[in-house]
Amino acid sequence: MKGLAGKNALITGASSGIGQAIAIRLAQEGCNIAINYRKSVEEARDTQEQAMQKACGQVEDCGRRSLLIQGDVSREEDILNMVNQTIEQFGNLDILVNNAGIQKECPAHEVTAKDFDQVLSVNLRGAFLCAREMIKHCLNQNRPGVIINISSVHEVIPRPFYVSYSVSKGGMENLTKTLALEYAARGIRVNGIAPGATITPINRDWVEDPEKSAVVKSHIPMARAGTAEEMAASVAFLASDDASYITGQTLFIDGGLTLYADFREAWSA
Ligand code: NAD
Repeated sequence: MKGLAGKNALITGASSGIGQAIAIRLAQEGCNIAINYRKSVEEARDTQEQAMQKACGQVEDCGRRSLLIQGDVSREEDILNMVNQTIEQFGNLDILVNNAGIQKECPAHEVTAKDFDQVLSVNLRGAFLCAREMIKHCLNQNRPGVIINISSVHEVIPRPFYVSYSVSKGGMENLTKTLALEYAARGIRVNGIAPGATITPINRDWVEDPEKSAVVKSHIPMARAGTAEEMAASVAFLASDDASYITGQTLFIDGGLTLYADFREAWSA
């Protein structure tokens, strides 16, 4: 895609699922990639190897660079460190993908303050703080930049038993729009994607259970879950110069999940 070759990208939570697919796709498109991971350096190395294999044929070959950075996006000092390290190693930062996310299932009336805060501090506060550091860098260097927030269909569809997750993704919509408006004239584009049900480790519970999978698919107009690669393709588009006039938008990639599937057939009056 246009304008991605040679760009430097930082992807949070990139050692698995959608984040991993984004790292691989951006490397294939010619980006240098900083792979943030929270716990497992082995998983992060796996992302790195797959990305470099796909991009170059072998690890660290064709001038493409990659970096592994441990860090917890709920900790401000870790965020400062991960953005600074990326800039130090690559020289600058062009693309930030706020992908790290967690969810906790619990009836709303039983959610503890600690659990609520934890989900918000990873999914929303972490995304904001990463964006803030990226924007500071762009402004200090007088450089354009791209921020992409990985939201969810639950940005607009309420999700009972996951109130903290729903609230975090609802907030992300406003984060995307507010930052997009505030920095549009400074050459910083901010967009989001809202995946529908996607086959990744976060959904282990139903992905590995044929009966539960069938229920999930029955709610999706396209009758299948999405893949992490399908999410990554849209991120690559939004990060590229092909999307140079798009800002403040969230692209729903959901097989029609947000089309009110219950209206597929006419209701009796
Ligand atoms: P996943 O569990 O594979 O990925 C989440 C990643 O975030 C993991 O690599 C995890 O280590 C990382 N992470 C968690 N807490 C972190 C922290 N404090 N600091 C840094 N990294 C942290 O699941 P996924 O499906 O790939 O999720 C990626 C994003 O996509 C999330 O934001 C999620 O909400 C969103 N999403 C997923 C789906 C889906 O159906 N899979 C649907 C909508 C939105």
